[in-house]
Amino acid sequence: MAKLTRRTFGKLAGGAGLITASGLNTFAIAQAVGKVVIVGGGAGGATAAHTLKREAPALDVTLIETRSTYATSFFSNLAIGGFRTWDSLNHNYDGLRRLGVKVVIDTATSVDPIKRTVTTGAGRIFNYDKLILSPGIDMKYDSVPGYSREVSNTIPHAYQTSAMGKQQLMSALSGMADGGTFAMVMPNNPYRCPPGPYERACMIAHYLKTKKPKSRLVILDPKKAFSKQPVFMEAFDKYYKGIVEMNLSTDIDDFSVTALDVKGKELTTKSGKKVKFNAASIIPQQKAGEIAFKAGVNEGDWCPVNPETFAAKKVENIYVLGDATIAAEMPKSAFSANSQAKVAAGDILAIMAKKEKFPARFRNTCWSLMAPDDCVKVGANYAPKDGKLDPSGGFVSQKGEDAGIRKQNYAEAIGWYEGITADMFANKPATAPAKAAPAAPAKAAPAVPAKKAG
Ligand SMILES: Cc1cc2nc3c(=O)[nH]c(=O)nc-3n(C[C@H](O)[C@H](O)[C@H](O)COP(=O)(O)OP(=O)(O)OC[C@H]3O[C@@H](n4cnc5c(N)ncnc54)[C@H](O)[C@@H]3O)c2cc1C
Repeated sequence: MAKLTRRTFGKLAGGAGLITASGLNTFAIAQAVGKVVIVGGGAGGATAAHTLKREAPALDVTLIETRSTYATSFFSNLAIGGFRTWDSLNHNYDGLRRLGVKVVIDTATSVDPIKRTVTTGAGRIFNYDKLILSPGIDMKYDSVPGYSREVSNTIPHAYQTSAMGKQQLMSALSGMADGGTFAMVMPNNPYRCPPGPYERACMIAHYLKTKKPKSRLVILDPKKAFSKQPVFMEAFDKYYKGIVEMNLSTDIDDFSVTALDVKGKELTTKSGKKVKFNAASIIPQQKAGEIAFKAGVNEGDWCPVNPETFAAKKVENIYVLGDATIAAEMPKSAFSANSQAKVAAGDILAIMAKKEKFPARFRNTCWSLMAPDDCVKVGANYAPKDGKLDPSGGFVSQKGEDAGIRKQNYAEAIGWYEGITADMFANKPATAPAKAAPAAPAKAAPAVPAKKAG
């Protein structure tokens, strides 16, 4: 793959290229008029707002987002490991405002697809010609018996776009005495960012190794296999032997959690294993963000979409992006959501400018840092085929790779982060991205991160 930098990211993600490939010349696109409302200012929604307003300044684009600061989930694992400052994850919407996007900090509470309106918690009503929903995920707390939203304050999942959960996870980790057991419960498929929990396991293990070397990380996984498994298992053995205990389910042992005793600090699995812990993180099953259900675009837990456009299959004039969708085979990632946003924006611009467009193309890559300068990746291109997204050109890191390749992967990942956040927020990062600091991770990671918003 070509070297990835902030400047090359847009093209590689299919961004500006897709708009051009839509068959619309810049003049035709700029003529597009109408009202687009976007709910959710994350990887999908912010990218859509930026793309639409940049390409068609006459469009009336409103972005409704609950939080005034977006704290990226992507790279939050690196902050746990001490390779990134927490502040470097925070981004605001000033760049989009400067471009002319109407940014409304409020929560969308209902959608009327007949009147084509969105109502917010503050009682404001917004009309739309086209509506884009990119609300991310909500948690199915009851998928782990004993777990709840309330319990997640002390046993955090830290898996949504809220800085709060990540602070709680860091506090649980830093509050644990050396010699303690930290337990991690992994989610079952499908879930946000397939390699994310395993990168987090590596970063927690790295924290323990460097700060609390007598401690252990016990992982309970209901699955029998997971993303980039060979290289993660290699890393657990190479870097974190004696710290990580990995319990992956098999035909004989099922490590799905059947009971969480919060007071007694104990987890029980289906196969009868009991784990006493001092601190823990539980990532439960997930579903589309609530507004998708209120808009009626869901089918079960997720939202079916037309893979050519990401238009909702169930309701006209609504598009759904990112983690809320069923975009099989495309994984739920920020890279995917960003790529999908450009396709949906291209479709809206083509409709509003009354022009033809070329077929959609998508791309995804997920990088995972496992130890200082040891970063792995997995990815593919996707194109619509038979009502699905057909992968091609897939690649995945292999066991025993040269250290130079892994270090280069890390440089790519940093370039990607700078590129995608600029592409989402039409902005330079709110704070300069922290450089990797493998020699002194402790300094980069305060026990309780300060100044985290929302
Ligand atoms: C630990 C971790 C590591 C990850 N690492 C990577 C990685 O390395 N690479 C990668 O590509 N992806 C990664 N991801 C996944 C990535 O964060 C998500 O896939 C991506 O953010 C999905 O984009 P989205 O637009 O669907 O949702 P989000 O980015 O979550 O955005 C949704 C937004 O909608 C807002 N919202 C929800 N409902 C409403 C409402 N009713 N009204 C107003 N606003 C609302 C929320 O506040 C939120 O800001 C990681 C995730 C986690 C948890």
